[in-house]
Amino acid sequence: METISCNIPVDVKVKVPSLVGLDKKQESTIVNVNGVEIGGSEVVIIAGPCAVESKEQIFETARSVVNDGAKILRGGAYKPRSSPYSFQGMEEEGLKLLREISQETGLPIVTEVMDTRQVGLVAEYADLVQVGSRNMQNFPLLKEVGMCGKPVMLKRGMMATIEEFLNAAEYILHHGNDQVILCERGLRTFETSTRNTLDLSAVPMLKNLTHLPVVVDPSHGTGHRWMVGPMAKAAVAVGADGIMMEVHYKPEIALCDGHQSLTPDLFNELMIDLRKVAGAVGRTIS
Ligand code: PEP
Ligand code: MN
Repeated sequence: METISCNIPVDVKVKVPSLVGLDKKQESTIVNVNGVEIGGSEVVIIAGPCAVESKEQIFETARSVVNDGAKILRGGAYKPRSSPYSFQGMEEEGLKLLREISQETGLPIVTEVMDTRQVGLVAEYADLVQVGSRNMQNFPLLKEVGMCGKPVMLKRGMMATIEEFLNAAEYILHHGNDQVILCERGLRTFETSTRNTLDLSAVPMLKNLTHLPVVVDPSHGTGHRWMVGPMAKAAVAVGADGIMMEVHYKPEIALCDGHQSLTPDLFNELMIDLRKVAGAVGRTIS
């Protein structure tokens, strides 16, 4: 591949900001999420429900995904819902349940923070703090998570270009936090058959422009349970460092995103396939 500086392909016209770019730092950043490394040879599987809904729900789901090889547990306690009448999340009670099941299973937890006023509290409980798609350009929030002392997973805005995405990440690094993971979760396009259009081309692009690890979320990226597996496999094939998927012990009674959540059985089957794909591209999933 012909390149200009470092390994940025010559035909790519993206202005990459300095801290996330490859001029100053060429080696891949490995983000350590309470002992789980993202950005090395292992593809890290993050699984769990969209939202923490009850003790039984998060405990049963966590126990099942850890058995199948998930390395990090997801679950929202503060949920960005389109309607004010939808379930908004269990808030601090949800964070406590996540902590409790994390102790039992050994799984570090990732959970979303939506508001600068919650950063301190969420960072106290979370091993990895998530900034959601809707907040990718909430600059005060980016500054605050830059100072929170925990690794951050930044989800790509549903209308954000690669350059805007990288600048949002730059905010976090600029405020003192170099433990940043980028997450592709689909774009809003003219297509209506899927919830979003999952931009898997973002993976090799980002991997060539930045040293930060890249995770793919095929659940929000497609909005269809049956499409999560195929797109997760494709994401591993194009070089993702991790896959984040919604799994619910009983998706039919989920308060949020049940239609795109895998059942424990489907997750179990998919993990077998993902290990094969990882092996085929020189990666591992343990
Ligand atoms: C989520 O992962 O819980 C979520 C709300 O996703 P996004 O911000 O990508 O819509
Ligand atoms: Mn969801």
